[in-house]
Amino acid sequence: MKPQIEIVTGDITTLPVDVIVNAANPSLLGGGGVDGAIHRAAGPALLEACKVVRQQQGECAPGHAVITLAGNLPAKAVIHTVGPVWQGGDHQEARILEEAYRNSLALAAANNYRTIAFPAISTGVYGFPRAAAAEIAIRTISDYLTRRPLPERVYCVCYDEENARLYQRLLTQQG
Ligand code: ADP
Repeated sequence: MKPQIEIVTGDITTLPVDVIVNAANPSLLGGGGVDGAIHRAAGPALLEACKVVRQQQGECAPGHAVITLAGNLPAKAVIHTVGPVWQGGDHQEARILEEAYRNSLALAAANNYRTIAFPAISTGVYGFPRAAAAEIAIRTISDYLTRRPLPERVYCVCYDEENARLYQRLLTQQG
């Protein structure tokens, strides 16, 4: 049996999974980093879809997640979640990051999606320390999967080899 969590190095926009997760900002109207890459690859239909969600629901609070179409991406849908901005660690950052992962997994499952890919949420512009963020990602995803049938497989996408090695070590330690 293939492992339920796999570490992948590279560009999340290229993955042929059911749903990819975007590390969005509360406006949902696009930004830099992985958000910019996803919008560029998906094309203008994604921004239009985000604007509709924004009009209906307002901003997306940190820890929450919303789902849209995926435009030109190989994925079928995009889940936009907002991670915490790192403010030193005593502003609920860890809890909010866990919620971002959990709510994204729950939204994928609610839409019957079997495969999902996450970027390293909050570890770019939002400044969350990478090792701590990776530990939260692996632990939260593992906990979620042990109790539920969907999603069946989760890809943690690292943009660089160093982060991928960090994730791989944590995953191996988890056994
Ligand atoms: P945040 O604002 O949540 O910190 P960023 O987009 O700035 O989001 O960064 C989140 C992570 O996504 C970083 O580790 C960054 O290296 C990574 N990243 C950037 N572009 C891509 C991409 N195309 N595919 C996968 N990961 C990416």
